Amino acid sequence: MRFKTSCSNCNHAGGYNIHHLVEVDDLWCLACEKCGNRLLTFSPEERQQIIRGIQLTESYVPDTIDAYRHIGVDPLPSRVRFGVIASEENEE
Ligand SMILES: [Zn+2]
Repeated sequence: MRFKTSCSNCNHAGGYNIHHLVEVDDLWCLACEKCGNRLLTFSPEERQQIIRGIQLTESYVPDTIDAYRHIGVDPLPSRVRFGVIASEENEE
């Protein structure tokens, strides 16, 4: 994931991703690529939460079959339609 942000010190608009984070004084920092001003700083606890979030996102495989089983849709719909869903009030 790449994002852009502007430096509050030199106004440089840089493009960054997670690989730009470096360890400084036991913190995880993102520094302006032009002047070195710290744009973001994460504590060791925040860093662990970020890494855990990435791991959960990468390992998550949605179980759509089981999700539909719980709401009682059998067989699963095989067509997708667009429009307004008719209810008893709309059918008058
Ligand atoms: Zn800067």
